[in-house]
Amino acid sequence: MAQRDYYEILGVPRNASADEIKKAFRRAAIESHPDRGGDEAKFKEVNEAYEVLKDPAKRQRYDQFGHAGVGGAGSGGFSGFEGFGGAQNINFDFGDLGLGDIFNSFFGGGPSGRAGRPDRGRDVETRVEISFEQAVFGTDVDLSLNLEDVCSHCKGTTAEPGYGLKRCDTCGGSGQVVRVTHTVFGNIQQASICPTCHGSGKVPEKECSVCHGKGTQAKQQRISLKVPAGIDDGATIRLREHGEATAGGKKGDLFVNIRVKPHKKFTREGDLILSDEHIDMVTAALGGDLSVDTVDGPVTMRISPGTQSHSDFKLSGHGVPHLRGSGRGPHIVTIIVDTPLKISREQQELLRQFADLDEQKNRKGFWH
Ligand SMILES: [Zn+2]
Ligand SMILES: [Zn+2]
Repeated sequence: MAQRDYYEILGVPRNASADEIKKAFRRAAIESHPDRGGDEAKFKEVNEAYEVLKDPAKRQRYDQFGHAGVGGAGSGGFSGFEGFGGAQNINFDFGDLGLGDIFNSFFGGGPSGRAGRPDRGRDVETRVEISFEQAVFGTDVDLSLNLEDVCSHCKGTTAEPGYGLKRCDTCGGSGQVVRVTHTVFGNIQQASICPTCHGSGKVPEKECSVCHGKGTQAKQQRISLKVPAGIDDGATIRLREHGEATAGGKKGDLFVNIRVKPHKKFTREGDLILSDEHIDMVTAALGGDLSVDTVDGPVTMRISPGTQSHSDFKLSGHGVPHLRGSGRGPHIVTIIVDTPLKISREQQELLRQFADLDEQKNRKGFWH
């Protein structure tokens, strides 16, 4: 349910050098590359891990805040993988690692491991919005998504019940059609999935009347998602095998992007919660107890005499729980001292007396 640790994905220790990470990534990428018959989900995971760990700033944020620290907009943690189903928009820098030679041999190299029926359904991305408090304490979210799933009528066989399958005439049963392209480098043979049978090599004697031979149909699906305490805005949770299904029933993954609504009073920085509290100048001078709002409810905070405006007070243990491990960050309260806007004649008089006394006291202090 929760995302796997990036170091674990690449199989390196947390203190691995940049070089070790690069080597580990190269190994893992070759192993899992879909064009080499590897697992597409794993390949994406490996790329995602490397995207973060190769960048010193992102790596530091990840070390500090976990996945939440690097899931923000523009961090590239996930955005690069959209449209992956076509295996074209892979966020992968071949040149960087000298991997060009390995992967070039798959372009136009004849039927590859990928030809044939796609072995798993499409990955799906969705977004949920949760409150500030839900992000702090964790929550359960019920998702309702319209996703392709195995057709209930034909059970994915593509044939109307009672009918069998026969050989596909378009591809002669191979599941692939070969196209020849003429280029300056010579003729390139490119195999692609047969458009008639979608790679199975077989077509139904009579098409399923519900899915029209597709084997899948859109179904409304309810998915319950456990959002961990401490998740931050922009984080993505992957639910394995909760995406769309193929006719064979193999599902892609579901990626849920978490959006945290801003709070009226609190802001957040990593595991810190920040807020302002206003006090009057008398409390600032004399000190006193102040009731402060936290995500755990009101907490009494002692204001020391002589508190200056914009000084920070720390309320330990009232911040955001650490996404990994136990404990919580602090809540930092910034005290703002309010100068009165309107005061009565009597108050003015008292303040003048105060100022006179203050002046005398200072004079004494100076001459003695
Ligand atoms: Zn065919
Ligand atoms: Zn059907």
